[in-house]
Amino acid sequence: MPSFEEPQTPFRVLVLGGSYAGLAAALNLVDLCHGRRHRFCIDDNDNGTGKNIPVQVTIVDERDGFYHLIGQPLALSSQKFAEAFWTKYTDLAALQTPDIRCLQGRIETLDSSSKTATIATTKGAVHESYDYLITCTGLRREYPSAPRSFTREKYLAEAAETLTNIRDASNGVVVIGGGAVGIEIAAECKMLHPDINVTLIHSRTSLLSSESLPAEFSNKALEVLHESGVNTILGARVTSITPNISSSSSSSSEHEEEKEGYTLTLSTTQTLTTSHVINAVSRFTPTAPNFLPEDVYDDQGYIRVQPTLEFPLDTSLPNASDHYAAGDVARWSGIKRAGAAMHQGHYAARNIHQKMMSKVFGTTPAFLALDEVEAGMGLAVGKSAVGYFPSMGLSSGEETREMFFQGDLGFMICYKWMRLGTVTE
Ligand SMILES: Cc1cc2nc3c(=O)[nH]c(=O)nc-3n(C[C@H](O)[C@H](O)[C@H](O)COP(=O)(O)OP(=O)(O)OC[C@H]3O[C@@H](n4cnc5c(N)ncnc54)[C@H](O)[C@@H]3O)c2cc1C
Repeated sequence: MPSFEEPQTPFRVLVLGGSYAGLAAALNLVDLCHGRRHRFCIDDNDNGTGKNIPVQVTIVDERDGFYHLIGQPLALSSQKFAEAFWTKYTDLAALQTPDIRCLQGRIETLDSSSKTATIATTKGAVHESYDYLITCTGLRREYPSAPRSFTREKYLAEAAETLTNIRDASNGVVVIGGGAVGIEIAAECKMLHPDINVTLIHSRTSLLSSESLPAEFSNKALEVLHESGVNTILGARVTSITPNISSSSSSSSEHEEEKEGYTLTLSTTQTLTTSHVINAVSRFTPTAPNFLPEDVYDDQGYIRVQPTLEFPLDTSLPNASDHYAAGDVARWSGIKRAGAAMHQGHYAARNIHQKMMSKVFGTTPAFLALDEVEAGMGLAVGKSAVGYFPSMGLSSGEETREMFFQGDLGFMICYKWMRLGTVTE
């Protein structure tokens, strides 16, 4: 007879990163461990195992809440959406269960032999033991692609400052970088502040030049961007940004210097003046913890994963098969997307649950494997959107925006899919 683990001892699962991938992993795992139909289930005949497995999930994140990163271009131009898009973990109904605990901090060290992680928090180092670990720490993106702050309060102050700069931009706003983020920031800005002149500058002659997407997609994006009222300058690199300083006499007859916007010089020698500059040139690096052995990463710093989301078999990391990565931090085909991150978090949870079931009930694990993904993208362009997926082809217009983003850059789509507003019983 095989000897199975005592079911009374909860499995400890440590989730690093509490965004799309991390929350999808944590919440689906808790559903599965309660033996019920899990929230991402699309199989009408699957009503769960009915078998309870005690689990204790700890989510570690540098932020104090979930941030809807997809909505960042909209949040930069709207305080209302900025407020909606950051929800503290303590206010997320789905996380209010004794099975899930959230810890604000940054992963410092990991000893995979003893399965212990050290987390740096404002109150000092916390040592967390785990049976399974899922790394969902995404990419480190610079502002304005992502917030700088780690608390909701500071983030809202940051958002308010950006909004003031946009509202006061009597001489227009320049967005640098014609990747997806730059296009969306420019278009949302123009849609919400139609009186402001918005110009997008991109160094290449076509938009989205670093994406492996068909030319028809970038051509359509440019067309729709122009229709939305954004001006573009393509094939020109910004070589300098100089603040315009004016001197004025104050009442005390001292001279005061005031910044009155910027002068931009382009590689074409053209110059232009503007009130506000948003640098949206994509800069990101994977956040994979650098204390893992080098052989866990690929040459760009992404965690190599098997189709089951487990760490690779050929790594020197002890207990590698109890370590998973999901979302942007994991190397997988296709463009990095929140939908893919949630899907991968879900699969990691399903596969960990299979291992738990095998240990507790002696079942034979049936693991799920990721399929390869072809490049595809939905791009919000003001009131419109442009989409390209190999299975659907090219689409654009208000219906496309409604399908991919609805009216809030996909916030409620993600919120409802993860059931963040529903208490996890
Ligand atoms: C402006 C913008 C627009 C986008 N638009 C779309 C879109 O329209 N559709 C789409 O599908 N995708 C879009 N994306 C991509 C999408 O946002 C990402 O694919 C998605 O966020 C990946 O989710 P994730 O959970 O893997 O990582 P992230 O969302 O990046 O989350 C990682 C989490 O880990 C935390 N973390 C990082 N390092 C540590 C650490 N050392 N210790 C503790 N916590 C840590 C972070 O605080 C964060 O909460 C967009 C991205 C940007 C920047």
